Amino acid sequence: MSGLSNVTGRIAAAVDKAGRAAADVELIAVSKVQPISRVEAILDEGHRVFGENRVQEAQGKWPALRERYDGITLHLIGPLQTNKIKPAFDVFDVIQTLDRDRLARKIATEAQERGRCPDLYVQVNTGEEAQKAGIAPDEADAFIVKCREEYELPVIGVMAIPPADEPPVPHFDLLADIAHRNGLTGISMGMSADFETAIAYGATSVRVGSALFGARDPSAITSV
Ligand SMILES: *Cc1c(COP(=O)(O)O)cnc(C)c1O
Repeated sequence: MSGLSNVTGRIAAAVDKAGRAAADVELIAVSKVQPISRVEAILDEGHRVFGENRVQEAQGKWPALRERYDGITLHLIGPLQTNKIKPAFDVFDVIQTLDRDRLARKIATEAQERGRCPDLYVQVNTGEEAQKAGIAPDEADAFIVKCREEYELPVIGVMAIPPADEPPVPHFDLLADIAHRNGLTGISMGMSADFETAIAYGATSVRVGSALFGARDPSAITSV
């Protein structure tokens, strides 16, 4: 069985167990650092939704793939520096890592110039980890309101990466609460180790890399 059919089967089972509809949960195939042959294999199986965590790596990979495969949706799931907003607009359909005021303002300016904007998710640092990106949970509501009302940004969801060394459920719960009380339908949470749990707690997008493609080769990271 391929990695893709294995993961989609596990997602279907988790969706079913949670009493949810299959169409409510989307698989984002996290292709960062993976050899292109593995990415092509999943494209050839028909998958079209992918996530990358670096603008530059995505720029080097996806324009050529988009020429060969129709209907690709690409999500940015890693931190975005303000000086990378233009290339991010060029290559990504969705930016999941909106997490600070200055970034929101600059995205709004770029959106105005282009007359379009990628769909946006606000990243929440649910574990309040110093080294991790994301807005603090107690600032999330005000930030979401400001992004939507003042900057008129198309914020459609929230995203989080729970601390690696803690049970994820309280973080999934917190993120789902923030989404619900702000009327946001998108909830991006759950990775290879915990996507089935995330689905039970309301995830609408799961971001799965290694369970799909196999382990990433860390030495490849330095080349980007
Ligand atoms: C790499 C990455 C993933 C996928 O991680 P796996 O454990 O390989 O599934 C998901 N989300 C983000 C933000 C990532 O950077």
